[in-house]
Amino acid sequence: MMQSFPLFLSLQGRRALVVGGTDHAARKVELLLMAGAQVSLVARTVTGEIAQLIADARICWAGRTFDEGDLAGVALVIVATADEALQARVSQLTQARGVPVNVVDRPALSSFIMPAIVDRGPITIAISTGGVAPALARKLRAEIERALPAALGRLARFAEIFRAQVRRTLGEPRARRLFWDRVFDGPVGELALAGDEIAARRELIRLLDSARGDTTPAQGMVHLVGAGPGDPDLLTLKAHRLLQRADVVVYDRLVSPEVLAVARRDAERIAVGKRRGSPGVAQEEINARLVALARSGRSVVRLKGGDPFVFGRGGEEVEALVQAGIAVEVVPGITAALGCAASAGIPLTHRDHAQACVFVTGHTRDAEAALDWTMLARPRQTVVIYMGAEGLPIIARQLVQHGMPLDTPVALIENGTTERERRVVGTLATIERQAARARLQGPTLCVLGEVVGLALVRDREFRLETRIGF
Ligand code: SAH
Repeated sequence: MMQSFPLFLSLQGRRALVVGGTDHAARKVELLLMAGAQVSLVARTVTGEIAQLIADARICWAGRTFDEGDLAGVALVIVATADEALQARVSQLTQARGVPVNVVDRPALSSFIMPAIVDRGPITIAISTGGVAPALARKLRAEIERALPAALGRLARFAEIFRAQVRRTLGEPRARRLFWDRVFDGPVGELALAGDEIAARRELIRLLDSARGDTTPAQGMVHLVGAGPGDPDLLTLKAHRLLQRADVVVYDRLVSPEVLAVARRDAERIAVGKRRGSPGVAQEEINARLVALARSGRSVVRLKGGDPFVFGRGGEEVEALVQAGIAVEVVPGITAALGCAASAGIPLTHRDHAQACVFVTGHTRDAEAALDWTMLARPRQTVVIYMGAEGLPIIARQLVQHGMPLDTPVALIENGTTERERRVVGTLATIERQAARARLQGPTLCVLGEVVGLALVRDREFRLETRIGF
């Protein structure tokens, strides 16, 4: 049995009374104001937050004790005072008038309870555990908050624009329901959520035409999603949500199995690990594949290690998709430098040691000729080298030749943020030998600079780090 009857009360322009001037009262006042109520507050003293609301003329305040006359013309009463006698009196008088009343934390004195709320205006989700376990309601709310995109309200408003037109076009209720399911579960919904209203409109019209029996089915879209450095807890909320919805996940070698496991169980997973020696060709194949998948009407997540736009060739993929007329959204991820630095406790900048931080590629074929070694060898900065493991001997030699001191601290971090993380810490003089002994095989990031000497996370470091000749 339901403990209470759920409903949404309209308070636009109606009067609501709050008794009490505590911070509790302030929370309730804010909610009432959000619902468009005119709020009167009765309390002899008020806290700072309420005082601010009064000063801003957002509520009317009577600085005295409650009087029965305060109830005249009121649509709703909330009591947030610690005075128990007053709580009972207001509750009784209000209920005698048939007006709903809530006394904070006193269900026995209340005629209604206040739910936990998830607000995605105009969508509101209210949660109640029937007063049995308010803490559980908070937990549920947190889960729903996480599951629902912040832009859900935008989607609802978008749907509203077409409501009448859809009703006219599709007379049959079942056809309409099916149509809206396809809108919300498919690319139209994704486009609207991503804020691309023009493309969303175009796709919706196309879908509406095909629902009526004409023309082609809607086209899918591609989300270029940063998978972060490996730990699935480091995915953004958006990445997490998209992974759970995607029909197809196209991923490369860098994406950790733990992150891939977040994808929907029945989603198709396509590995597109780049082939050594002919990266250009492989990239074109990937682009063509993404275009074909999207054209087949499926929702595609292109999952890239770290951030798609940091040494990820994300720019090239976006370009190819845009050229093919496919809608694309880029979702940033935590790049290896940030993930590895955090797990190794290396502050990338530090007031006393590094005023700048440079990310460079150490991919030797590009790097030796292209990198500005003089700039990289400068003091008072942190240098982070991606794809630098193979070229480490060349990199170290160049840096020393260009004046970087031999005792500069260096960290190599392999499989950063995952269970398999390993670290090798040394100096420019020793690191090459240490790296050779450690036989690093996974993705490895190289961090150079004084900040490496600060390595703040001691516990994991001693467990995982290989210190040789240091
Ligand atoms: N887009 C990615 C980088 C791709 S380049 C990002 O933003 O992180 C590939 C290089 O990234 C690897 O050679 C390695 O240097 C680095 N890398 C990626 N993930 C890593 C990890 N978990 N640990 C250490 N290095 C990593």
